[in-house]
Amino acid sequence: MTIFSINNRIKIYKVKDAVLLSFEYEVLKKKLKEKGFKMTPQRKSIIDVIVTNQGNHLSAEEIYELVKNSCSNIGLATIYRTLQILDDIGVIYKNNFDDGKSRYELYQDEDHQHHHLICIKCSRVVEVEEDLLEQLEDEVERKYDFFILNHKLKFFGYCNQCRE
Ligand SMILES: [Zn+2]
Ligand SMILES: [Zn+2]
Ligand SMILES: [Zn+2]
Repeated sequence: MTIFSINNRIKIYKVKDAVLLSFEYEVLKKKLKEKGFKMTPQRKSIIDVIVTNQGNHLSAEEIYELVKNSCSNIGLATIYRTLQILDDIGVIYKNNFDDGKSRYELYQDEDHQHHHLICIKCSRVVEVEEDLLEQLEDEVERKYDFFILNHKLKFFGYCNQCRE
């Protein structure tokens, strides 16, 4: 895992092999301020962990274990509270993959959330990059006179390794 810090404002994270994510702390700071929150070192550490683990869909407990490395005195209650705030202001997505835990990931630069493929044997979660729902969305909007902002779509089944 590499973190390139261009300056204090923007950080570029190397996630997985070739995926680069840039993250503007100034934008997030502004969002937090609008809601009456400050960017504290603890909140910053939590965001760092979520960004550098993009694609891993960490639970609050897993985030807690990783944040403790840089913030040893942080409590699980602070993690829960911060995740709730970040979810409320649209910085992260809270996912439910039916394993009894909420799993978090960064809200990426996408109009609609990507879909998830969930293996019911090994619990692996794979992301689908394409939306593929445009036609369905058009039809639903027309038929039900409803303007679609977003959707959450989960597919359950067996991954290629579990089918061998
Ligand atoms: Zn869509
Ligand atoms: Zn599997
Ligand atoms: Zn995802």
